[in-house]
Amino acid sequence: MVLGLILTIFEAILISKNLEIFNNKQTVHSYLEKLRSQGKSIGFVPTMGALHNGHLSLIEQAKIRTDIVVCSIFVNPTQFNDKKDLENYPRPIEDDIKKLQDAQCDVLFIPEVGEMYTNNEQWSIDLDSLDNILEGEIRPGHYQGVTQIVNKLFDIVDPDFAFFGQKDYQQFMVISHMVNKLLLRVNLVLCPIIREKDGLAMSSRNIYLSPADRQNSLALFKSLTLFQDLYKNKDIDQLKTEITSFLNAAPGIELEYFEIFNAKSFQPASSKHVGSVIALVASKVGSIRIIDNMIIEN
Ligand code: AMP
Repeated sequence: MVLGLILTIFEAILISKNLEIFNNKQTVHSYLEKLRSQGKSIGFVPTMGALHNGHLSLIEQAKIRTDIVVCSIFVNPTQFNDKKDLENYPRPIEDDIKKLQDAQCDVLFIPEVGEMYTNNEQWSIDLDSLDNILEGEIRPGHYQGVTQIVNKLFDIVDPDFAFFGQKDYQQFMVISHMVNKLLLRVNLVLCPIIREKDGLAMSSRNIYLSPADRQNSLALFKSLTLFQDLYKNKDIDQLKTEITSFLNAAPGIELEYFEIFNAKSFQPASSKHVGSVIALVASKVGSIRIIDNMIIEN
């Protein structure tokens, strides 16, 4: 009985430690190519690390759908338009590795910047104005940087499926656009937003919120639940006006945008239509930017 228990624990440790870690792109590419030639499907979860349950939910989805789950951790400099944000981005590598082992992720690709970029590399893709609105307007060049790195990572990993969070819905729309435009073979999967118990969407940057800002940050989720509650009985203009004034009155919130879009076309919704509608909110809370969204199916 005791021996059985010890063996079970030992097995669990052995299984959980089975994470292959690579920092060289050719090596990970060849490793995955071999598995693919054996008929294994590859699921990919690109991240910037500082992993939380939101990231781990993507790993979980990938494990359900594919044979081999690959996670990448790379804090991509070309998508940061704020140097301080890049420098301060959390990098708890040992914790991340432990979380990936516990989640039974198969492969971690964790390259240095020099492995991914040569000097003065150029990249430009027409994103059909998706990169000029909302996040793209506030963070010029951000989505060019995102597509540049995701395209490189897709090339290296060559996944059958790649998993992204609804938390960054505009990013998902941008990457879908790139996949269609460049005729990439990957299938994209959108996964739900994972939240703290009180509703705050999980994010690697949340650890930098002061206790007061952490409390104030709840206004974003509240604005989205208000949107959900009022949706049936108000038109789009009324919803925008009421929720924007709610956010403007919330303490510690420096609102950047609250918008209501058609979730399929990703254009502003002028009236209620058949299909899904998404409310998107972005705000500074103290010195930290927070984004969140909610989709309503009509
Ligand atoms: P990041 O490390 O912030 O680049 O995020 C990596 C992936 O995790 C992206 O696809 C994000 O949309 C996703 N993600 C981040 N936060 C959450 C969350 N709270 N719930 C679900 N997915 C998330």
